[in-house]
Amino acid sequence: MTPTEKEFEAYYRRFAKNCPRCKGQRTILVNGVLTRCICQNKAVKRLYFDKISISPSSLKYKEWDDFNGSILNLEGDVDGALTVSSLEEAKRKAMEYCFDHWDIDVDKERNKAINIDRHLRDGQNLVIFGSPGSGKTLLAVLVLKELLRCMWIRKRDYRYKWIKFTDLVGHARWDNSRSVNHDRLDELSESHFLFIDGIDVYRSGEGHNTPPDLIELDRLFSYRRAMSIPTIMTATTSLRDAMKAPALAGLAKKWCGDELISMMCSSETVRIVLDRGDIVGKLQD
Ligand SMILES: [Zn+2]
Repeated sequence: MTPTEKEFEAYYRRFAKNCPRCKGQRTILVNGVLTRCICQNKAVKRLYFDKISISPSSLKYKEWDDFNGSILNLEGDVDGALTVSSLEEAKRKAMEYCFDHWDIDVDKERNKAINIDRHLRDGQNLVIFGSPGSGKTLLAVLVLKELLRCMWIRKRDYRYKWIKFTDLVGHARWDNSRSVNHDRLDELSESHFLFIDGIDVYRSGEGHNTPPDLIELDRLFSYRRAMSIPTIMTATTSLRDAMKAPALAGLAKKWCGDELISMMCSSETVRIVLDRGDIVGKLQD
C-alpha cells in the first residue's frame, strides 16, 4: 500500500513536533542553507514500515528477546513451546543471516555487526518452517527490521516487499474477472529483498480457489535466482511434509511451482525448522 499525501503530511508533522533539532520547523540551517531536517527522513521510513501489511501487526514492534520459543494458539495464549535445541538453532541461524556473527549483544553491537545486505551479493535465501503460532512470522519480521536498520545506517534505498503467499498466488492467477497481475509480479521479481509469508499447499474445499499459473510463479523465482537476489520465506510444516513425501510432492508443486520448491530445497538456502517440543503438538502434526 502506497501512503497518501495526507499520511505523509501527518508523519512529517508528528516527527518534527518531537524533534529536538528543528523543533517542529521541519528544516534546519546548515552552513546558512535551509535544509530538510533528518527527522523528516525518519518520518518517511517509519510511515513505509507502518504501512507494511503484516498480521498481526503487533509483530512489527517485537524484538529478538520476544522470540522465546513460546507457541501461541489462535487466541494468542501460550499453548506449548519449541524444543530448546530448535529455539537455539533458529535464533542462531536467523541472527547469522542478519549479522556478522550470531552471538551479538544486540543493544551494543547491532549497528557495527549488521551485514544483511551481503545477501545481495551471495543471493542467499532464508526459509523458516513452522506450525501455526510457532513464531515463524515473528522471526521473518525481525529479519525485515534488521534490513530496514541496515538501510538506514548505510543510507541505502534497497527495494523490499513483504507479501502473504495467498496474495502472491492471487496475483499469479487467472480468474473469471481478471488476468494475471503482471505489474505486481514484476515488482516482486525485482525487489532486492522479497519476504513471502505463509507458503502453504491447499487442498480443495479449504476456502481457497484455483492454484496459480505456474509459468508465472516459475518466472518470478527463476528471475530472482538468476539475479542472485534474496528471498526470505515462511512456510508451514504441512508444506515441508509435502515436499518430503513423494506422494504429496505433486501437491506442493501444484501450488508453488518447481522454481520455488527447488529454491527452498537448495543448498544455498538457509533452512530453519521450528519444532514443537510438547507431545500434544507432535500428535497434531
Ligand atoms: Zn527535525
